[in-house]
Amino acid sequence: DAPLLEVADLRVAIGGERVVRPVAGIGFQLRAGETFALLGESGCGKSMTALAIARLLPDGGRIEGGSLRLRGEDLLAHTEARMRAVRGGRIGMVFQEPGTSLNPVMTVFEQIAEVLARHRGLRGAAARAEARRLLDAVGIPDAERRLDDYPFQFSGGMKQRVMIAMALAGEPELLIADEPTTALDVTIQAQVLDLLARLQRERGMGMLLITHDLGVVARMAQRVGVMYAGELVETGERSAFFAAPLHPYSRKLFAALPGGQQRGRALDALAGSVPALDAEIPGCRFSARCPQAFAPCTHESPGWHRRDGQAVRCHLYAEGHNAPVPAAHIAA
Ligand code: SF4
Ligand code: MG
Repeated sequence: DAPLLEVADLRVAIGGERVVRPVAGIGFQLRAGETFALLGESGCGKSMTALAIARLLPDGGRIEGGSLRLRGEDLLAHTEARMRAVRGGRIGMVFQEPGTSLNPVMTVFEQIAEVLARHRGLRGAAARAEARRLLDAVGIPDAERRLDDYPFQFSGGMKQRVMIAMALAGEPELLIADEPTTALDVTIQAQVLDLLARLQRERGMGMLLITHDLGVVARMAQRVGVMYAGELVETGERSAFFAAPLHPYSRKLFAALPGGQQRGRALDALAGSVPALDAEIPGCRFSARCPQAFAPCTHESPGWHRRDGQAVRCHLYAEGHNAPVPAAHIAA
């Protein structure tokens, strides 16, 4: 059985004269019905990874290499027309800013109706009934009346629910949610996360969840991939990851959580900076910030090493080197 989504050695470049490579060879698999979290600080390439999967890179952006398969089907071989049918249909998307993809001069119904017509051939009364059902499903009270409201008439949290309803309208197999709650108030964040988790379960969707927040990973994901400077540095089951993060960067993420509780900002609190992504980077991309860096780290790029359910890209785990296994930080 092909995985729902298979990303292999994905490479993204942006720009002409000065080329930046925000995604430098990412690979992971997402199974149907599971939530895979891509975790990392801002600028690490996680949003570019999401946009590349939907083939929605900004102007000047291009996929330089690798492959993207949805149920075994090569997305990079699709024409733009075929891709438009996949996007909004088999792949639904929710972004950070509530309302970014809402049209301010169309009612919510008009916008959902467009998706229903394009991806499911629903029109007229059938579209109206389905749109109402979708607003109900995302917990918008008084759905029948709210369908005729404009985006500005919704609060931030309600707008994000509308976005989720639009993303679901095409009945996606894969939902890509990029920091879906980061812009929302803390109390609303929890409600929207619970909603996403419930919808994902009920619909059996796979979810690629992009986040900088360990709390969101703990709450939502079955598996996690940690990104640093355009690369994955650790992947594994959530429980194994929270019990014993292996990569020095992953451990820093946990250490940066005061009392293991703070959400949000934590990842920006690390010392040092991420390497510029417009030049060849020799060695480990984390070496300038890594407290455990040793001889090979500045000139040899580390390979992947396996430990039970986890995989880590770090020289400490190479054969013959005894990596200290850290104590548990927080329970998932
Ligand atoms: Fe640190 Fe070296 Fe491991 Fe990179 S390879 S994370 S620098 S120990
Ligand atoms: Mg982002």
